[in-house]
Amino acid sequence: MSARRPSSGANTSRISDAPQRFHRAQGPVADLEGIVGRDHVLTDAVDVESFATDWTGRFRGTDVVVVRPANPAEAIDVLAYANAVGFPVQLQGGNTGLVGGSQPLDHALVLSTRRLSRIDLSMIADGLVIAEAGVTLSALRDAVGPYGWDPGLDMASRDSATVGGMAATNAGGIEVLAHGMMSSRVIGLEAVAVDGSPISRLRPILKDNAGPRLDRLLLGSEGSFGLITRVLWKLTRRCPERLTCRVEVSNLDSAVSLVRTARNEITGLIAAEAWDAATSVASKLGTHDAAFGDRTEARGALRQAMSDPTWTVLLEWDMGQRDETLLEPISHWLADSAIGIDASARSRLWNAREDAPLCLARLGTPVKADIGFPIDRISAALTELRGGLLRIEPDWCITVFGHLGDGNLHVNAVGPGSDDVERSGRYLGAALATVLDLDGTVSAEHGLGRTKAGYLDLARPDEAPWIRRLKNLFDPNGQLNGGVLGLGCHTDRTSWS
Ligand SMILES: Cc1cc2nc3c(=O)[nH]c(=O)nc-3n(C[C@H](O)[C@H](O)[C@H](O)COP(=O)(O)OP(=O)(O)OC[C@H]3O[C@@H](n4cnc5c(N)ncnc54)[C@H](O)[C@@H]3O)c2cc1C
Repeated sequence: MSARRPSSGANTSRISDAPQRFHRAQGPVADLEGIVGRDHVLTDAVDVESFATDWTGRFRGTDVVVVRPANPAEAIDVLAYANAVGFPVQLQGGNTGLVGGSQPLDHALVLSTRRLSRIDLSMIADGLVIAEAGVTLSALRDAVGPYGWDPGLDMASRDSATVGGMAATNAGGIEVLAHGMMSSRVIGLEAVAVDGSPISRLRPILKDNAGPRLDRLLLGSEGSFGLITRVLWKLTRRCPERLTCRVEVSNLDSAVSLVRTARNEITGLIAAEAWDAATSVASKLGTHDAAFGDRTEARGALRQAMSDPTWTVLLEWDMGQRDETLLEPISHWLADSAIGIDASARSRLWNAREDAPLCLARLGTPVKADIGFPIDRISAALTELRGGLLRIEPDWCITVFGHLGDGNLHVNAVGPGSDDVERSGRYLGAALATVLDLDGTVSAEHGLGRTKAGYLDLARPDEAPWIRRLKNLFDPNGQLNGGVLGLGCHTDRTSWS
């Protein structure tokens, strides 16, 4: 199932109906066409819709213009032009971000990197490639696979998420246990600040301690400091021989014990994912049942499953030269399990986990909390969090899935009114307050974006003043990604026409 955002349904009329009048013959649109060509400046409401709306369908910008440069040089020229005329700029890769950080504010210029799609394979013998910002994770995997290499990072949004977006969000995914987050893949990068000042570190030198590394500041900056144009990516060796094992356990505590044993006693664990009973129901119905669109009935089935304490754990190992006996240390957990070794069997085992976000989106606009705790505290924290959330919106369905091996779970709530910005904001606020009280993180991997923009000071009390100083240094007029991380947003443009 592709991670492309589901159709945003009836609400799209807000965009399609919005009057947009642009003077193509002269003015900014013509100037931008002069840089990237007429076909790559999109102004028509239908053409810009997918760029103007975020993956969840909750956020959208109106009166936006999308500019699609073909290469880093054109992208830098677009940024320089926007800087000269004072346009607010929204940087966008695959637009799969889940925190409202990739879609534009009203009247913004969307700089889409999707045409920056070249991969330089000249260093492949050493497991390094230089990928332009718009290369998708799948495209990277397809390009390096024949040489025996793998990106060493994987996630369900692979067909759309881009190299630039993954670096800007310091993406995690399903292989963090084995290979770390995106910051472990980035040997260096090339970026440009809004005034055109470059930061370029693409030399293939693995160890370089000649002074502090400015390029590292861009990792996790969510586009607030500058545009990432290229990444020097460190690959991992491909391991096609994998063993995947899906196990049902009685509750989340058992799931944690299983993951710890699997990690500590069997070498080569790559992934340790888990999901609750309600997620299993959502994935099963959402994938196979055309009637899942009947939200009342489907939500009823999910609510019933919420009282079922069982969890499903999915473990995947690099099998190497071993056989199934590698599972011996966890054999007493395997009564209710399924094991897959060939690609299609493994992919069937992954389906329930990978399809969960899209199946849920069919039930309405979900509120998403991406929480992280030390793994030994995650079960108690989730119990407290769920109890509190059920008191706030008793009719909403809560499903939980995520990267249990990293202590990172995604808590998703959907129900009547979950698309309402204020109501969902209150709900998310209560969830995150509980997480902070319990000393967890309010964003394990998705970032703060705009949905959690107010949390920078709470999440990073000592660093927030430094981060603001850096924003002023990189982007003194607050033109770039206004409001993301609670930074910037100083431009006063009210129209393109
Ligand atoms: C089904 C699904 C599963 C997902 N699973 C995971 C997961 O397992 N782990 C995980 O970490 N995330 C996951 N995500 C979230 C998302 O895919 C990641 O955050 C991803 O890294 C975003 O990449 P993108 O190209 O889509 O970026 P976008 O959504 O386009 O942008 C994200 C942010 O990065 C900025 N940005 C984008 N490109 C650039 C650039 N070139 N230079 C500077 N800033 C830029 C944007 O302005 C925005 O602030 C998932 C999303 C979906 C829909």
